Amino acid sequence: MTPNYRPPAMILHRGQGSYAWDLDGKQYLDFTTGIGVNALGHNHPQVVAAIKEQAEILCHSANQFYHPNYVAICEKLCDISFGQKVFLCNSGTESMEAALKIARRHFFVQGESRTEFISTIGGFHGRTLGALSVTYAEKYRQGYSPLIPGVAHVPFNDIEAMAKAVTPKTAAVVLEPIQGNSGVIIPTPEYFEALRKICDDAGCLLILDEIQTGVGRTGKWFAYQHTNIEPDILTVAKALGGGLPLGAMITTEAVGACFEPGVHGSTFGGNPVACASGLATIRVIEEENLLANAQAMGAYFKDKLMELAQSSPIIETVRQQGLMIALALHEESKPYQVACRQAGLMVTVAGGSALRILPPLNTTTEEIDQAISILKSVFSN
Ligand SMILES: *Cc1c(COP(=O)(O)O)cnc(C)c1O
Repeated sequence: MTPNYRPPAMILHRGQGSYAWDLDGKQYLDFTTGIGVNALGHNHPQVVAAIKEQAEILCHSANQFYHPNYVAICEKLCDISFGQKVFLCNSGTESMEAALKIARRHFFVQGESRTEFISTIGGFHGRTLGALSVTYAEKYRQGYSPLIPGVAHVPFNDIEAMAKAVTPKTAAVVLEPIQGNSGVIIPTPEYFEALRKICDDAGCLLILDEIQTGVGRTGKWFAYQHTNIEPDILTVAKALGGGLPLGAMITTEAVGACFEPGVHGSTFGGNPVACASGLATIRVIEEENLLANAQAMGAYFKDKLMELAQSSPIIETVRQQGLMIALALHEESKPYQVACRQAGLMVTVAGGSALRILPPLNTTTEEIDQAISILKSVFSN
């Protein structure tokens, strides 16, 4: 193994619902959900059944052929969003590549020379060279230059800075509606309306990276649906494949048209089994009313965390939309993540000083109470 990961010594062996077990049989409440991928927890029976069923019919066809699941999930994504055209791929970073490429190509086919991007300080968009170019943190970028030229980063949630940065060369403004890896940073509602107006006035496109916020995480299908605006391009991955690799770039008819045959592609993208798993995931979210559950459980969780924050000087604040939650600390969060895990609760670190909590969308008050009691034990020491 190249040493680019730093996993803990425990080895994850098995999962069921909101729980996971390591090789020694120790049980954890898994509120990392594989960084928001396992939206229904581990091994949801309907997702497992859909994967098995499709695996026995056809595992792979490449994109020389249509297959029903590809079409079905593209239609479904359009039903639940502003979208009219969808390109499927295998990961978040690939959906970002598709977004950046289609934005440039959209202007290219119109004979307009717009090749530049404006993204935000603290933004995370993936690790491939294009997505990395719009990602901000130096720790991810160092050693990989030259990245793609013509990218500027401006402060997040700063309307004036964005308005100043956009030029006639700007192809697109690129950002997360809530910065996930930076610690669940939630901008004001006015920010989105201003962004839309800045892009419209400048004639550039708005790309929202909903790789982490999408597919129900915030209590709506997509976080932009909490606002009054729509993007031109939306990227999705993480929860979309129900645990299997699946990403999507969703756009309008007008922008989508420039992806003519041959100009972009992916051998594995929209794999039949991954699509079956994704379709089952979306169906369960609908049937079990999990958008509403994410909103209700998120509010419940926030109240409990605010109570905890009042009793612990280490906790600065709580940031939350739906089940995308951060417990912001006055200190580095890593040691607290380790302490939580030792006490049986898995959470992630984000932004250096936050614990990011991403429960499954079908979590319950009982599970949240259990998490709170573990957090209480960790933060009272
Ligand atoms: C995870 C993530 C990505 C990258 O997705 P990968 O599947 O790891 O390539 C990009 N943007 C955001 C907001 C993410 O959370």
